[in-house]
Amino acid sequence: MLKNLANRVYYMPHYSETDRPALGLICGEKFSLVVDSGNSPAHADDFLRLVEEMDVSPLKFVVITHWHWDHVFGIKTMDLLTVSHEETKKKIDHMKTLKWDDASLDKRVETGEEIEFCRDFIKREMPEREHLEVKGPDITFNDKFEIDLGGITCVVEHVGGVHADDSSIIYIPEEKIMFLGDCIYQDFYSGEWSYDKDELNILLAKIKKYDVNWYVTGHQDPKKKEEMESFFDDLTSIGEIVGGKVSLDKAVAEFQDVKKTKPSEEQLEYIQNFVSGNQKEKRN
Ligand SMILES: [Zn+2]
Repeated sequence: MLKNLANRVYYMPHYSETDRPALGLICGEKFSLVVDSGNSPAHADDFLRLVEEMDVSPLKFVVITHWHWDHVFGIKTMDLLTVSHEETKKKIDHMKTLKWDDASLDKRVETGEEIEFCRDFIKREMPEREHLEVKGPDITFNDKFEIDLGGITCVVEHVGGVHADDSSIIYIPEEKIMFLGDCIYQDFYSGEWSYDKDELNILLAKIKKYDVNWYVTGHQDPKKKEEMESFFDDLTSIGEIVGGKVSLDKAVAEFQDVKKTKPSEEQLEYIQNFVSGNQKEKRN
């Protein structure tokens, strides 16, 4: 069963063993819309089978939050009108030209075109990839667009961020629910996982414009307003404390000075992420 988040809004929980992201379902009186296509034909199939058991309006659209493999490899299997930001389509069009067998993946990791993290999960989710067909979106948008599904609306807005600069969110005003995809996560495609303070502030300003009761992220359980806002505050404050520092020790010392306590394991990871972001900036 898909989990019900509110009237007419459902999600299939993420599955970390093979990096399956959460998928969303928004059901109007006329059509239903899916958020992200899954990380494999099998993932998309599992989702479609669960939807078949439900009494909902026909599936018509799938909106892709960003180009990463785990959100797009199910597009062909979903077989719906696929909508994405224009940059997402460009990235997927490039992915269509690539080969996905073990040797090709290993080679791309060697040349730095692919990262180990994704390669390992691709292999785990899809030990066989001969029949994998990467399909691109049918409809693209530039900044923002809305779909009326019949009594319920989806507002899709491009927000960017360090995780993937094509990232878009899907907001359902009638239910105050936002699907964030992976946009609030770190940049993990360019070496050490990192955050950038200024980019984060720009992103959070775009997200905070909306009145949200529930946030659904790609790789965690949905979070209520208060919980997510406190996470945003914590992350913002860590970014400010780290400032322009490129030394982890100095950043941790500053944290202890300001907060009068040692960082938790999670906070330490975020401190490291901002420091890594500063180091990358310095190198460029
Ligand atoms: Zn991602």
